[in-house]
Amino acid sequence: MTETVARHDVVIVGAGPAGMTAAVYTGRALRSTLVVEKGIPGGQLNETDRIENWPGVAEPTSAPDLMAALRTQVERLGAEIVQDEVLGIEPGRQVHRVVMPRRAVEARAIILAPGSRPRALSTEGAARLTGRGVSYCATCDGFFFQGKRVVVVGAGDSGLMEALFLTRFADSVAIVVRHPKEDPRAIRASGVLRQRAASHPKIRFLWNRDVAEVVGERGVTAIRLRRLDTGEIEEVPADGIFVNVGHMPQTDFLRGSIPLDADGYIVTDSRLRTSVAGIFAAGDARIDAHRYAQAVIAAGEGATAALEAELYLAE
Ligand SMILES: Cc1cc2nc3c(=O)[nH]c(=O)nc-3n(C[C@H](O)[C@H](O)[C@H](O)COP(=O)(O)OP(=O)(O)OC[C@H]3O[C@@H](n4cnc5c(N)ncnc54)[C@H](O)[C@@H]3O)c2cc1C
Repeated sequence: MTETVARHDVVIVGAGPAGMTAAVYTGRALRSTLVVEKGIPGGQLNETDRIENWPGVAEPTSAPDLMAALRTQVERLGAEIVQDEVLGIEPGRQVHRVVMPRRAVEARAIILAPGSRPRALSTEGAARLTGRGVSYCATCDGFFFQGKRVVVVGAGDSGLMEALFLTRFADSVAIVVRHPKEDPRAIRASGVLRQRAASHPKIRFLWNRDVAEVVGERGVTAIRLRRLDTGEIEEVPADGIFVNVGHMPQTDFLRGSIPLDADGYIVTDSRLRTSVAGIFAAGDARIDAHRYAQAVIAAGEGATAALEAELYLAE
């Protein structure tokens, strides 16, 4: 059994906007708080360039910088952030165990905020060419596509954000959309992004198509698209494919200990309480919140979960 090395009032799993906002609240409530983060604090916002819908920040601002400031705030308020991966939760009656590879800690309350990761493109060639032209992060890889032709798959907020970002580097950016142009569901992104993309000289939309195959030997050379009206396959030359086809919750480590829905999202009541007393959830990994997948909503849920945890601890 993994050795238990410490006990905290609150352990928070994940240091994205949800987990770090929760830590601001538990820190200010003077609860000993440990935040466990397997990657870089900031979560998914580290994968984007600018954010312009964070309340109170008047101009588009660097999303990683915003998250770095939130981290500083968390640490100033007394919460500790450690880099480690939570492998499992062992719920108890009064105290729960949080298990990591080399140690475990006890927590009187746990806030689960593990967020989500990009859903993989399952078509032929996509897995083989990931890292060789197929990318899930324009901020990370866009620089390598200077003067190239890229295709973005997916037309939600993050798809259009990535397409606009890629225009800095690429010569042309084509966006594959699964619906016809006149279908109101065609583009799920907000109006302002839609307008910007539609009027950008480097961007064009490939309507009513889905991806049949990613083509290339050592690197991507083209993408084969299926026209959804005729079934016809067409080949579009491309050097890079940026995939934005949704997200999956990072909740495998909770299977068997915390109720999840059929898609793996953490089930809670409206006060963000799981069915296990003292364990709460917030952000993109939680049922309902992932519908919106917005940083400010995740942060608001982090605050709610922390206030609920405080009520629970005070009782
Ligand atoms: C490219 C892109 C652009 C975006 N742009 C915007 C935008 O402009 N505006 C906006 O409002 N939203 C935007 N979003 C969405 C926003 O980033 C998310 O809604 C938000 O980050 C969700 O916060 P979260 O804390 O729930 O989860 P995440 O940000 O996913 O953070 C979860 C954290 O938990 C960690 N973690 C997971 N499992 C474990 C484990 N077992 N052990 C330890 N740590 C773990 C992860 O490493 C991660 O750091 C964007 C997202 C992307 C991908």
